[in-house]
Amino acid sequence: MSDVPVPKITRIEVDRELCIGAATCVAVAPELFELDEENKAIVKPAHGADQAAILNAAKVCPVLAIYLYGEDGKKIYPAP
Ligand code: SF4
Repeated sequence: MSDVPVPKITRIEVDRELCIGAATCVAVAPELFELDEENKAIVKPAHGADQAAILNAAKVCPVLAIYLYGEDGKKIYPAP
């Protein structure tokens, strides 16, 4: 883990157009993501994943289809 503080993530979105169902996010954060019937990642409700785990899962997506937003509504990742 880096020493850079992780901004508070309040919203997670998966771009279904981009998602290729690689399931890397599911592999690293099975508590957070699962694949739906169309083989697209969806966020599990009440997942309880911590901030670092969420950011890590977004970073492993090969097509950067996982978008993270902060309290102010601004995109945290991928860098806008
Ligand atoms: S890692 Fe990215 S492409 Fe793969 S299932 Fe997750 S969101 Fe989709």
